[in-house]
Amino acid sequence: MAKVQLWGITQRYDSAIAIEDITFEVPDGEFWVLVGPSGCGKSTILRTIAGLETATSGDLYIGDRLVNQIPARQRDVAMVFQNYALYPHMSVAENLAFGLQMRKADPKTIRERVETVARMLNIEHLLERKPRQLSGGQQQRVALGRAIARQPQVFLLDEPLSNLDAQLRDDTRVELKQLHQQVGITTIYVTHDQVEAMTLADQIVVLNQGRIQQIGTPQTIYSYPANRMVATFLGNPPMNILQAIYDGSAFQVNGQILSCPESIRTCLQPSQGQRFDLGIRPEHMAIGSEGSFLSVEAIVVEPLGRETLVRAVVPEQGNFRQQVLNIQVEAGRQIHLGDRLPLQLSFEHLFVFNSATGETLYPS
Ligand code: ADP
Repeated sequence: MAKVQLWGITQRYDSAIAIEDITFEVPDGEFWVLVGPSGCGKSTILRTIAGLETATSGDLYIGDRLVNQIPARQRDVAMVFQNYALYPHMSVAENLAFGLQMRKADPKTIRERVETVARMLNIEHLLERKPRQLSGGQQQRVALGRAIARQPQVFLLDEPLSNLDAQLRDDTRVELKQLHQQVGITTIYVTHDQVEAMTLADQIVVLNQGRIQQIGTPQTIYSYPANRMVATFLGNPPMNILQAIYDGSAFQVNGQILSCPESIRTCLQPSQGQRFDLGIRPEHMAIGSEGSFLSVEAIVVEPLGRETLVRAVVPEQGNFRQQVLNIQVEAGRQIHLGDRLPLQLSFEHLFVFNSATGETLYPS
């Protein structure tokens, strides 16, 4: 096991910058998840750590060793891809043993290691089969097993569950977490799926357009997002964003007045202009007409069993186009299409973002 450090890693392709000034340190034995939309640079970071790409600039350490010039084979990392990449002509046992044979481990060690890994992953009964005789989930286990058998210093996983169907993905995700608890290998995991990021990570690195947006525990990132992109990326359904105008004492949303508590007022400086984006999660709104509320119209009602999800709009007004919100309400509540609902926002869960830069202004 080893820590992994990236210092100012930048990767340019011709004129395009894939990742820029990426700096973070994954401590020994932790499970970190790189998450962000497609094209944000996640795989480029992983491939750079693996040594499959050479960074344009920056330094990369595995353990205490600077590995910028060290070829992939000598980095002692194992990478698992979404497409498994098993050797089709070899049995499962041979696939598991392959990395160890390449490293000239003695036959007894290889046999023991293959048995241990097979037991750990529940694939002992599959050892004689060829990959084509396995289901997708079983193939993915073998791919993980092959990487674990080598006992690398670092484990790199690139969207390893995305080829599995939903149920299997959930099960394998849980197993992966248990597996990490057992073997404790430093792991860096890439996904665009925020549920995987939230459930697996010790720390999440949120990326967008090649840059780090925020690094933190899942709970910190969810509760204190650094900007609008992070706020709307993590959470399902995502945080609602409402464009609002601030007149120095209250917000206006499409002409409707929404009172602004003192705590928020003191945070908003006149220099920050009048336009703000308000952020509120679907679970932090309630239907009720006491105090300050927005009048919205229900356009879709989705009963989900445990709760009901209502999609509603703040109607257009003058130059202001209608704004759409997702609201989570308790299951038994009767709501019909076209209903006008008074919507209260829980101010202690309200976020205020700079509308131009997206930076979180409140809570500061
Ligand atoms: P992600 O894994 O988050 O989907 P990638 O790391 O694959 O993103 O890509 C980041 C950016 O770099 C994308 O805009 C992609 O088009 C670009 N890119 C990746 N590899 C190459 C390459 N070999 N040549 C040119 N551009 C590339």
